[in-house]
Amino acid sequence: MARIRVAVVGAAGRMGREVVRAVCAQQHMTLATAVDLEHPGEDVGPLAGLPETGVTIEQDLRQALSRTRPQVMVDFTRPDVVLSNIECALDCGVRPVVGTTGLKAEEIERLAALCEERELGCVIAPNFAVGAVLLMKMSQMAASVLPAVEIIELHHEGKLDSPSGTALKTAEMIAAARGEAPQEPGPPERGTVSHGVRIHSVRLPGLVAHQEVIFGGLGQTLTLRHDSVSRESFMPGVLLAIEKVISLRKLVYGLEHLLDL
Ligand code: NAD
Repeated sequence: MARIRVAVVGAAGRMGREVVRAVCAQQHMTLATAVDLEHPGEDVGPLAGLPETGVTIEQDLRQALSRTRPQVMVDFTRPDVVLSNIECALDCGVRPVVGTTGLKAEEIERLAALCEERELGCVIAPNFAVGAVLLMKMSQMAASVLPAVEIIELHHEGKLDSPSGTALKTAEMIAAARGEAPQEPGPPERGTVSHGVRIHSVRLPGLVAHQEVIFGGLGQTLTLRHDSVSRESFMPGVLLAIEKVISLRKLVYGLEHLLDL
């Protein structure tokens, strides 16, 4: 079986280094190139805690993709650059697997149209941890019976966007399950409201990525909680998306669409 050639963008970041480790550990994948604005010219291996790989960090994404011709680009960068990175990849005929959060709904719609036009697969997932996907699915199920709900998302202090992409996606899924009966959002000064669901964001050192979804009913509450205690938790989902995106011809938003749930 031919190895899948993978570009990692944001390779010097927290998630990027984890992806470099995960890709290098796969016999059916090759790290084709690593892109970041930090650590240019450095071998990405030692940065990720591995021996030298021979792949050095490049700063110019278009140049790196054109020269190394990967099939897949994995992006864990920043909310303000991810859109142009995805557009650049599609332009170069490279399939994006995107974990960077902060893309707006209308931007995802525009990208979906671009993918169909180019007949290229793309996976965008606000959370690649399978447990978080289960949390979203279970929240959707619970919301049809217990429509009063609030979300608390908790992340490390370096996270740039809030509320988290996972919380926004959970709110969207809950809203779909509640159908015609959206919750009265109440006064705006507590947290943020998305799709009629109130979301609270906590940012503290010591945290990785956590979410609670609390449902309230008559004389009872139901709390669903997921904890990513290490960034390894995202890697099986990222690797699955790299494998699946090769045969897709459209954009898929959410890991749940790649899993048999
Ligand atoms: P980080 O700040 O540690 O890493 C981001 C890296 O991107 C940095 O090394 C930075 O230099 C690099 N970068 C910035 N602009 C760039 C550009 N134009 N081209 C190339 N590289 C560039 O951040 P992180 O903790 O690794 O998180 C990255 C993103 O992933 C965030 O949006 C975060 O919310 C998201 N995230 C998603 C999941 C998921 O499962 N989908 C999980 C964890 C984090």
